Amino acid sequence: MIVSPVFAGKRYAVLGLARSGLAAVSTLVESGSHIMAWDSRDEARQQLCQWTDCGKVDLSDPVTADLAGFDGVVVSPGVPLNRHPIAEAATRAGVSVIGDIELFALARPSLPPHRVVGITGTNGKSTTTALVCHLLDCAGITARAGGNIGVPVLSTEPLPAGGVYVLELSSYQIDITRSLDCDVAALLNITPDHLDRYEGFEGYVASKARLFAMQGRDRDAVFGMGDKETSAISHIEAARRAPGRVRLVDGADLTELQKEWPSLQGPHNRQNAAVAVAVVEALGVKKAVWRKAMRTFSGLPHRMERVAFANGVTFINDSKATNPASAAPAIAAFPPDPQPRLHWIVGGLPKGDDLDECAPFFGNVAAAYTIGDAGPRFAEILAPHVPVHNSEMMAEAIREAMAAAKPGDVIMLSPACASFDQFRDYEARGQAFRQIVEALIAAGAGSDIQPGGAA
Ligand code: ADP
Repeated sequence: MIVSPVFAGKRYAVLGLARSGLAAVSTLVESGSHIMAWDSRDEARQQLCQWTDCGKVDLSDPVTADLAGFDGVVVSPGVPLNRHPIAEAATRAGVSVIGDIELFALARPSLPPHRVVGITGTNGKSTTTALVCHLLDCAGITARAGGNIGVPVLSTEPLPAGGVYVLELSSYQIDITRSLDCDVAALLNITPDHLDRYEGFEGYVASKARLFAMQGRDRDAVFGMGDKETSAISHIEAARRAPGRVRLVDGADLTELQKEWPSLQGPHNRQNAAVAVAVVEALGVKKAVWRKAMRTFSGLPHRMERVAFANGVTFINDSKATNPASAAPAIAAFPPDPQPRLHWIVGGLPKGDDLDECAPFFGNVAAAYTIGDAGPRFAEILAPHVPVHNSEMMAEAIREAMAAAKPGDVIMLSPACASFDQFRDYEARGQAFRQIVEALIAAGAGSDIQPGGAA
């Protein structure tokens, strides 16, 4: 765990006791701060005592408490600040609202000399974060992934001198970070997402831009080429920085090399790879080193993860594709050969009313199997273009797809939707897909698949 003398004797309120909130409480208690902590869920409050000496924590709700004299209110990124009363309570008391990443930024001067990489974007953050860590490891540089990737950075042991913290940062986390001066910051792409939390698309774009505004002018910034919002931020940053500190990359030069990277297929992964390469080059890693390391990257679960191969059919779990923009490149990765061969399981809790980003690739789809709340609407959109099964449930969709698939075909869950209508989260949805696939294969479903035709 990271502890720091900068927090000694300070007063903080912590609201939201999930993973990052619990880590923040532990760091602050161990660093000698006075803490008020709260979560509206009973179990979350009870968990606190397993993490830290809860005798040292005042369990009260900061929304109704007197916050005068506090040094900060630490909120979890899940707290919607645009409508939660904590924002007003903090403003009234003149206390700033921050997150665990800001606590990390404040603790940095007391850590052994290190560098920080911050990675954001609508899609591809986790993949790129994991890839940067992998490339640095292979280059002999100690690296640790933290932040939105699921590991609160404060809960990790401080890195030895020379280490690199690689932080995946969502826009919610950037909103509550004030002083993180990343040595290298990267923005992959921006497409509309999370609009319930912002003043329109512009508010969301402005949130991403702040990661770069926090950097000094002699720091490095890397941008993916592909959308005009990301390019616009890169131009603003190029104008205010020392020459050569801003790189806008499209990955065109990686097309040939990409063939050697089994876990980084598809145009979206070329973008992720291009950004990761520019980031590690900014940290001094040479081409000969990253080129070799790329081949051994194993990818992350639930992102175009190959979970089974049976009877000539490949099964892919892309449950992490929670919006149409992230499902699009997954569909693009399977062009007809020579006939369309993709059986696409799509649907869940919709983020919008269309599949526009996916539409250019409908020609890759042999048949679609719609599930969840979005099912009826998606079936309506898809029906003029591809055969559609209104499957409703995941198990039914897989069963129908297995009955229709021919050897050489691909059955892929790439939902283009959130998962919360039928599953706890995207991980539970991906696990369900894998388990049902494995059970159906074990039970012999699809084993009568004949070359050249559905059974
Ligand atoms: P994030 O952490 O930003 O949610 P992930 O790396 O977990 O991103 O990938 C989530 C999904 O987004 C993947 O399943 C993939 O389909 C899609 N994706 C990954 N990288 C990109 C990209 N650069 N552009 C568009 N979609 C992408």
